[in-house]
Amino acid sequence: MTTIADRLRVVEQRIAAAARAAGRDPAAVSLLAVSKTWGPDAVREAVAAGQRAFGENYVQEGADKVEALRAMRLAELGADEREPAAPGLEWHFIGPLQSNKTRRVANTFDWVHSIDRLKIAERLAEQRAAHLAPLKLCIQVNVSAEDSKSGVAPEQLGALAHAVAALPRLQLRGLMCIPEPSADAAVLRARFALLRELQAGLVADGLALDTLSMGMSQDIELAVAEGATIVRVGSAIFGDRNRQAATEK
Ligand SMILES: *Cc1c(COP(=O)(O)O)cnc(C)c1O
Repeated sequence: MTTIADRLRVVEQRIAAAARAAGRDPAAVSLLAVSKTWGPDAVREAVAAGQRAFGENYVQEGADKVEALRAMRLAELGADEREPAAPGLEWHFIGPLQSNKTRRVANTFDWVHSIDRLKIAERLAEQRAAHLAPLKLCIQVNVSAEDSKSGVAPEQLGALAHAVAALPRLQLRGLMCIPEPSADAAVLRARFALLRELQAGLVADGLALDTLSMGMSQDIELAVAEGATIVRVGSAIFGDRNRQAATEK
């Protein structure tokens, strides 16, 4: 049987091979393990295999899991609950975020990748507790104009990025995208290239950005070839979410 640890190694090798093929340092690409729909035990298995950064899509499920893992880790490490650094995990919120749910995200997660409106960023800035490190953000860009779902349009990105970068308690780090599903590698690659070019434009405009959050289980190699610094990988590590739902019924 393949385990989470085995699949993690395979994904790490895919990232490293793609980076080398693109003439990039494999260490410049970090792996975010997307644990949505999987329970705390699956996360703990990945932690035991060396993974430290996890991505969640749903506020309550994600925040509950962060708490569960903190408790498990503290018990395992035999650490004092007042020792804030003990758990050593990094949590990224990557799903759609509504304004009535920002408070829990602001104080539970280390990163939010899905900012596409100023109002959400303003609330996070207001609600992030002062004793916590600045919340790191990516702006989600709609790189597939024809079927627009989430993400700011490329034409509106500049204004939003400059406004978000000026907010307190936050640190704007870069851009994120989820291209439309496509079997055509050239289409996906063009979407990732667009995100990279938009980022370069913002950097030329004076914003200090270093993060391109792009690529998932199916298209890790294409995203790394176009400059991804964080790939968000779920099913290739934890298994097929649809089959999981079917077997749990
Ligand atoms: C679910 C999800 C992923 C991971 O997708 P896989 O295809 O399972 O690797 C990455 N990013 C976002 C925003 C997601 O919602």
